[in-house]
Amino acid sequence: MSKYQVSDDGLYGRFGGQWVPEMLYPNVENLRLNYIKILESDEFKNEFLGLMKDYVGRPTPLTHAKNLSEIFGANIYLKREDLAHTGAHKINNAIGQVIMAKMMGKDRIIAETGAGQHGVATATACALLGVKCRVYMGALDIERQAPNVARMRMLGAEVVAATSGNCTLKDATNEALRDWISNPEDTFYVIGSVVGPHPYPDLVARLQSIISKETKQQVREQTGKNLPDYVIACIGGGSNAAGSFYNFLDDESVRLVAVEAAGLGLDSGETAASIARGTEGIIHGSRTMLMQTDDGQITEPYSISAGLDYPGVGPLHAFLAEQGRATVLAATDQEALDAARLVTLKEGIIPALESAHALAALPMMKFKKDDLVVVTVSGRGDKDMDTYMKRLF
Ligand SMILES: *Cc1c(COP(=O)(O)O)cnc(C)c1O
Repeated sequence: MSKYQVSDDGLYGRFGGQWVPEMLYPNVENLRLNYIKILESDEFKNEFLGLMKDYVGRPTPLTHAKNLSEIFGANIYLKREDLAHTGAHKINNAIGQVIMAKMMGKDRIIAETGAGQHGVATATACALLGVKCRVYMGALDIERQAPNVARMRMLGAEVVAATSGNCTLKDATNEALRDWISNPEDTFYVIGSVVGPHPYPDLVARLQSIISKETKQQVREQTGKNLPDYVIACIGGGSNAAGSFYNFLDDESVRLVAVEAAGLGLDSGETAASIARGTEGIIHGSRTMLMQTDDGQITEPYSISAGLDYPGVGPLHAFLAEQGRATVLAATDQEALDAARLVTLKEGIIPALESAHALAALPMMKFKKDDLVVVTVSGRGDKDMDTYMKRLF
């Protein structure tokens, strides 16, 4: 078994685990006892892989970026999660967890969302699969993310405002957990990234691992090489990166590069770079690297990109960084904006602001001429057009 796999008790080295209040333990334990069995069942695989193909539109292409290759002096390929249904990788995870919920006899889904992307993916999966969906969202985020709130409502989800604290993601998470504690029988909590208590980080990584499964096959078919030299992805919680890395973890020749959001700069105090500038602690049921004050209060992270604006990072990534298996870089708001502009003008692809952070790694790297580099474009930029217009023109 891979040394980067989660242990039976949910640990990646000293990271991860199940740091949950006693009242939540039965729910999490029920999922832990069932998730591998379900993921490996024919019933799950047939339904999941069928929907990935015919509904999500997988495999997503691996596009040879000829112009970027010339500019950066390497062979650059883009893994196109922006072309998945709903415009990002989050749908892979949402569909997988909703199928799992139904197989566990649950007919009510809850989720929390910050920017609304995970809420939209979950609402989509619930509409498709015919289950009730309630999404908790901070009252402030509901105001800031009106288009995604509208999408969720159109998809039939109930969007509930969290009005405690700062009225943002953390408060929505607390409300969702309270709901789950009160409704353990019929309710499944769909978490949107490789975060939370065990088994969520492993469950989400396995569902997103379809990304690197496809990449591996596409690299062989399209390039004649066996493996890429680099795989680069952005990390908020870390699900698109976990999925992009997963099937390469034991191929030690493949250099894995995770790109955090530096915000206004690593030392500006306005950053979301949890590995570079965070410290070890516990957030959302898991031991990992997070942004906190000296006395352990979680601090508000900052990034121009709503999807990277999370105060922690999945425990797998804390472990990969500590082990030196992954290299962690950070891109500022401005570096991400510049990368988005360049990739749009040179390749005709408008990336999500999150994905632009991964692309911003290209000018930071020293490649050799025949290096084969895969960058995951986690989503499309439609949702970010206001920001692009304000900041680029
Ligand atoms: C949510 C989101 C991310 C960040 O989440 P991860 O779990 O780190 O992948 C990245 N890109 C896009 C397009 C997103 O919507």
